[in-house]
Amino acid sequence: LSWFINAYTLFASWKATVDRLTGFADALERARAEAQQIDGKREETEPADRLTLQDLALNLPNGSTLLAPTTLELKKGESVMISGPSGAGKSTFFRALAGIWPYWKGKVALPKGARLLFLPQKAYLPIGTLKHAASYPSKEEDKISDEEAREALRAVGLARFENDLAREENWAQILSGGEQQRLAFARAVLNKPDWLFLDEATASLPDDAQRELYELLRARLPQTTVVSIGHRESLAQFHTRRLEWKGSGESSHLAAAPAA
Ligand code: ADP
Repeated sequence: LSWFINAYTLFASWKATVDRLTGFADALERARAEAQQIDGKREETEPADRLTLQDLALNLPNGSTLLAPTTLELKKGESVMISGPSGAGKSTFFRALAGIWPYWKGKVALPKGARLLFLPQKAYLPIGTLKHAASYPSKEEDKISDEEAREALRAVGLARFENDLAREENWAQILSGGEQQRLAFARAVLNKPDWLFLDEATASLPDDAQRELYELLRARLPQTTVVSIGHRESLAQFHTRRLEWKGSGESSHLAAAPAA
């Protein structure tokens, strides 16, 4: 009996570990099942000069409609701003294009071989060196020279960190919201994507900083197609085309709006 009494704490900790592991396994199983629910077809097609949405409909996990079937073509080289009410589904739209939202129907034809970079309002910053955080998600970080990374930091207004490239930190806790957004632009400069999707990427910055960063994109990445989600009127001037999210539920759609 004394064995059971002594082993009791061991049993309790074993039970807690088993509960955590079975909970984790269940969550993985649920995620796998959800990923298989995708009705939409996301594929790469040629010609590689456009991104086409055919009857793209977005849903929430409970089945309600975020965006009714929408057909749209974004051409390489144009810069498009998408605006609309908060909570309409704009970020979810980007998630579906990125392939990380399972509840959608229709067809997304991505330009074949093109490199797409998505920068959310709060970009993920890996714990590690500042150079790693600035070049993420590049798989060829070694090909980015320190000088190149330093120069990108200077260009986005983070000159005070230019000597910290090799410093390992949890940068998400050190940099302010605005500095993190500047770092996200450094990522764009270093990764040189063909298509760049910016989701409220300058929301924490004042208008003059927004201007500097968008002008930097235009100067450094002239071939990159920029698609921005934003609500500030001052953002419109950096785009050639504007789409406005209108309506909700079954009547929601992306309507052309006058450019700035
Ligand atoms: P926007 O970017 O237009 O402000 P979002 O795309 O972030 O809007 O969100 C659209 C709606 O979807 C919101 O009502 C939000 O609460 C809901 N939503 C977003 N992600 C999830 C999720 N994982 N599960 C359930 N609802 C979600």
